[in-house]
Amino acid sequence: MLSTMQEAPLSIAQLLRYGSTVHSEAQVVTWTDDGSRSASYAEVGRRCARLAHALRGLGVTGDQRVGTFMWNNQEHLEAYLGIPAMGAVLHTLNIRLFPDQLVHVVNHAADHVILVDATLIPLLAPRLAEFTTVRHIVVSGAQTPEIDLPDGMTVHSWEQLIADEPDDFDWPELDERTAAAMCYTSGTTGDPKGVAYSHRSIWLHSMSVCMTDGMGLKQGDLALAIVPQFHAMSWGMPYAAFMIGASLLMPDRFLQPAPLAQMIAEVRPNFAAAVPAIWQGLLHHLEDHDDDVSSMKLVVVGGSAVPPSLMHAFEEQYGIKVLHAWGMTETSPLGSVANPPAAAEGEDAWRYRYTQGRFPAAVEARLVDDDGAIVPKDGESVGELEVRGPWIAGAYYGVDAADKFDDGWLRTGDVGKITADGYLTLTDRSKDIIKSGGEWISSVDLENLVMGHPDVLEAAVIGVPDEKWDERPLVAVVLREGSDTTPRTLQDFMAGSIAKWQLPENWARITEVPKTSVGKFDKKRLRADFQAGDLEVERI
Ligand code: ADP
Repeated sequence: MLSTMQEAPLSIAQLLRYGSTVHSEAQVVTWTDDGSRSASYAEVGRRCARLAHALRGLGVTGDQRVGTFMWNNQEHLEAYLGIPAMGAVLHTLNIRLFPDQLVHVVNHAADHVILVDATLIPLLAPRLAEFTTVRHIVVSGAQTPEIDLPDGMTVHSWEQLIADEPDDFDWPELDERTAAAMCYTSGTTGDPKGVAYSHRSIWLHSMSVCMTDGMGLKQGDLALAIVPQFHAMSWGMPYAAFMIGASLLMPDRFLQPAPLAQMIAEVRPNFAAAVPAIWQGLLHHLEDHDDDVSSMKLVVVGGSAVPPSLMHAFEEQYGIKVLHAWGMTETSPLGSVANPPAAAEGEDAWRYRYTQGRFPAAVEARLVDDDGAIVPKDGESVGELEVRGPWIAGAYYGVDAADKFDDGWLRTGDVGKITADGYLTLTDRSKDIIKSGGEWISSVDLENLVMGHPDVLEAAVIGVPDEKWDERPLVAVVLREGSDTTPRTLQDFMAGSIAKWQLPENWARITEVPKTSVGKFDKKRLRADFQAGDLEVERI
């Protein structure tokens, strides 16, 4: 028997209409080099309509891809909503990709138009001649700089282009399964691959972001969206904010600890999301500066494992709760979130919060061993995490990547364990695990431990070849300025918390852990530095 319910398609146009009317007074605040500027969601709604008319004028009449090469700001939010709502496909371009990768993804997605922040023109302009499908460049910002354009490409000013367009648009009714937005993976472990999100997947994902046991974004929140809009859709915050009536604070290009602290003090957001490296930087900054961060109540941290020391420092020194979450570009990106069970208290609650968390009902998770057998969820057995659900990718755009899927499940490349009550603990990425004498050592466990030492600012652990054990851990450590802490002291500090054979004997002092385009530890580069003999290794 079929149900008797309506089949109203879920669409970004509906989100846009809803947010810009019901939550018309919510604000998007963008940080500039001269304080902040704001617009109401009503104003954003009108500008989305004008943008859609302007893009129609540039020949975007179907599901053409419209690229964005932008920081997090008001105009990028307008692109997020207006482009999918008109039936085209938003393609967020990672401004930090290697230039060759950028050319690859623009051509692979066949972008017709690219919207770009004026401040980012110097990064984009040198590669324009290699873009085979791009016909128009639309520049956001006060001044449109001179660009050397290849034949067949035209440059426009965003504001001039939309100036005379109407404030409303007859948003088309779309099949909810069609692509609304696409994002390429950041290529931490391979070439960037495209994930195309549907209107439906974005909708359902946004609901999960707003659930109390999801990220808990709610009406009236002012959310500082640090995680870039060009990386994993800013963790879904722009859409979720329109769904729930939360205001957004967009940091634009001001992502260093000092301006972040300043904008928190002045605009007073209560919610934020970013990768651990950003929070480590902010924590370090706050040690010597007394910016007022008292407005901040909850920060969602994910993208790589969050060291427990970071969670405690924020909570105990600043009253800011750190909520640990796991996800990937392929999972929209919200997968699991570490809200502890209601009954857990004290140390018990902390133990749950250190994990990567629990999956929502819509996302199923399982662990699979090297032979393809399902591993029990007993909190001890380890396997590769596989997930499936309505906002999980089932394929990549235009490439055959059959090895990334297993009978309808996405193979995440992450390795870990799951408890009977559903909490995931990741031990590593499969490529980062250290295989020592047939046993596995988790690089993440070692990093978390050593980063708990007060003299350690950052530490990344990689496996290096070893004659006797095949592989042994090497800790690349960044010490606080002036610190004379030795590897031996750090090793002693770790002893007792892990098995003796896991204690690392290879140490290298470095000035900064290399980071990927999205701010994660770049272990590929660290391994290359090691192989090139660029790390000064001390063996103890
Ligand atoms: P890329 O795969 O190119 O780095 P993503 O942002 O999609 O880009 O990265 C997803 C990966 O990030 C996950 O597969 C996992 O390895 C890692 N990750 C995300 N969140 C966490 C977390 N909370 N703890 C540990 N690793 C995480």
